[in-house]
Amino acid sequence: MTTAAVSRRGVQTLMASRSQVCRRSMRAVPRQISCRQFSLSSKRLAKEGSKKSKVSPEDKAKLWDEYKQSFHFTPASPPDSLRVGGTVTVHGFLGKRRDISAKAAFVDVVHPGQSRPVQVRSAWEVEGSPEHELHLQLKAANSYSPVAVTGLVEEAPGEGTLEEKGNALLRLGSIQVLNAFPRDIIVSKGVQFPATARHLQMRFSEALQRRLAFRSDVASWSRKQLTSAGFREFETPVLFKSTPEGAREFIVPTRRRGFAYALPQSPQQFKQILMASGVAGGYFQFARCFRDEDLRADRQPEFTQLDLEMSFATGEDVMQAVERYTKELFAYLGETYRLAKNTAGDDNKTIPIPIEALSKGKGTLSTRPYATISDEPFQRMVYDEAMAKYGSDKPDLRIPGEIHRVDHILPSSFTSMITSLEDPVVDAWRLRLDGSPSESRKFVQRLFDSLPPAIGKNPDGMPAVMIYDSSKPLCGLAPLGHEAFGELTDADEHPELANLSDFEDGDVLLLQARKREPFFSGGSTALGLLRLEAYRAAIEEELLPYDDTFRFLWVVGFPMFTPTEADAADPGQGGHAGFSATHHPFTAPLTEQDFELLTTDPLRAKADHYDLVVNGVELGGGSRRIHVAAVQEAVMRDILKMDDAGVAQFGHLLEALRAGCPPHAGFALGFDRLVAVLSGTGSVRDVIAFPKSMKGEDQSVKSPGRLTPAQLETYHLALRSAKTSQGDDTKK
Ligand code: ASP
Repeated sequence: MTTAAVSRRGVQTLMASRSQVCRRSMRAVPRQISCRQFSLSSKRLAKEGSKKSKVSPEDKAKLWDEYKQSFHFTPASPPDSLRVGGTVTVHGFLGKRRDISAKAAFVDVVHPGQSRPVQVRSAWEVEGSPEHELHLQLKAANSYSPVAVTGLVEEAPGEGTLEEKGNALLRLGSIQVLNAFPRDIIVSKGVQFPATARHLQMRFSEALQRRLAFRSDVASWSRKQLTSAGFREFETPVLFKSTPEGAREFIVPTRRRGFAYALPQSPQQFKQILMASGVAGGYFQFARCFRDEDLRADRQPEFTQLDLEMSFATGEDVMQAVERYTKELFAYLGETYRLAKNTAGDDNKTIPIPIEALSKGKGTLSTRPYATISDEPFQRMVYDEAMAKYGSDKPDLRIPGEIHRVDHILPSSFTSMITSLEDPVVDAWRLRLDGSPSESRKFVQRLFDSLPPAIGKNPDGMPAVMIYDSSKPLCGLAPLGHEAFGELTDADEHPELANLSDFEDGDVLLLQARKREPFFSGGSTALGLLRLEAYRAAIEEELLPYDDTFRFLWVVGFPMFTPTEADAADPGQGGHAGFSATHHPFTAPLTEQDFELLTTDPLRAKADHYDLVVNGVELGGGSRRIHVAAVQEAVMRDILKMDDAGVAQFGHLLEALRAGCPPHAGFALGFDRLVAVLSGTGSVRDVIAFPKSMKGEDQSVKSPGRLTPAQLETYHLALRSAKTSQGDDTKK
């Protein structure tokens, strides 16, 4: 599926962050503050700001005076000058002061660009002495303020060199507060700020800081690795034009009446033109992509892809290049990072910590090594098999047991109890929890109490559940009836069910009916979804061990086209064929036979399209492209049945292909998702500095903004009345 499908079909649920922050409170424990309270306070700030413009000349002079004091600040000494006996200046944010007595205190100064804080010591003996004055200055400085501190480097307690001890120790010589941190923002451990205060969340969440630093590191490592593998980095326009590539676009109106740009859903067409242009054998880009999709958990309207393309290459070449990149990335991470549990968080997520930072001061933190991945080629699975055996186009290979079809052994009396479908397919999956039947029963009860609507309100019927219990008639599987029970457990007669029916007490058997039709729409079947839910719940309840391995696989052999659904979220190519391209309309058929099928039975044609999946997450997708203009045009015009205007939108690409474009293929990694998975969080919001909300809003900067009458005028736009406007959300 396209990388859009990463977010379209992502089944990860987000752990909603709890919002805790103290303002104007002297209490040490965090208390809840709503986003509304916070934004009210920023409104108040704005108001106060406007009042301040009427300040008296004296106040103004004072303000400028204060500003001047921080405008010129002592430059920081080079890091290698931190030697015992030297006098140095360090910059950073002031930590919380630790008063040892009335006459001595320690405080950390943390520079965002350095992995370890500098410890500053202040002590005095004689009242009124310069040391006493300094101590008072330190006490007056608000924690978290940016400061420049000058002092004498002292011998830090403990054994070893400064490097080994981690923290340098400074005897306070002077302190310059560069912009006092306001006292009304109270920060405590694990504090969660509302989305309107993303700057504070980034400032005070070590986990977020570490993940953002990790993201930057993975990006710069990737740049180096790809460049040395012969790829060249290109930038492609963000102001593009509307083309029916598949997803719904964002439009950017221009001052030219009736003209608009569209933001690219991916740089797909540009990277193909680059291949035709012969400027590089391999292209890559950290590309911003924009898709106006319905938002769900873990879906962002703008996101980053690590986008690749290779000329004179097949899909196989690209898959191998991506596999090499991934394995080398893991090798690098294994050597450079460890994963720590996020002790300040309210979840099970991990934080990647550079090994180098651990050896400097964080030695006591409990961490685990970064998971390694095997050198073996990544497993490959065809799409139909993934859907049939795992109920998903992005199977999580850590989940034990496959799905088996059982409708051939079931009596119609049973089938009609679980579905009203005529002639359905019935799938079954067995979950082994290694507990007693009664423990399994309780687990199932809890699971079924909170089923997502796609399972609990499935029009094809609810799942049937049975617990294997040898003390019960037909071992607890009596609803199947004698005959079906006999068949199910007869491995000689049904060897295809042997892995399902080697039951043990406490095993949970889940059955689900579905329509007898090809798997076209991707995503998950209801049983696939239930399998995932059950696995996650069992891990959460510690009934199954948490598996921290990374199980990569390629899903290949996707259908080239997908029938258009009436309620489809994506507009597709707007053709009249009744189907649209599964990946995008530039994808090549898989084999010669599939090429033949394009004209005879296009819905049976498979594409040379591959998705990279790890642990149930689609990391990215790509395909071999149609590199011959006439074939590309025929697919658009004759197969997808796009009209002249639609095809004409791709004129630039067809021209480029026509000019002797070499065979080429490519791939795009969802970079946000990759970093999220690698840093041990299921949420891309944890690895994006300024994520958007479920409504597609950035609450910190309050975007999108309402258009003003002047803007409407400038861009020749007029708003329709709210009544006639479909999907209007201007009232929000
Ligand atoms: N442009 C595709 C996407 O965004 C990726 C590719 O085919 O290279 O999913």
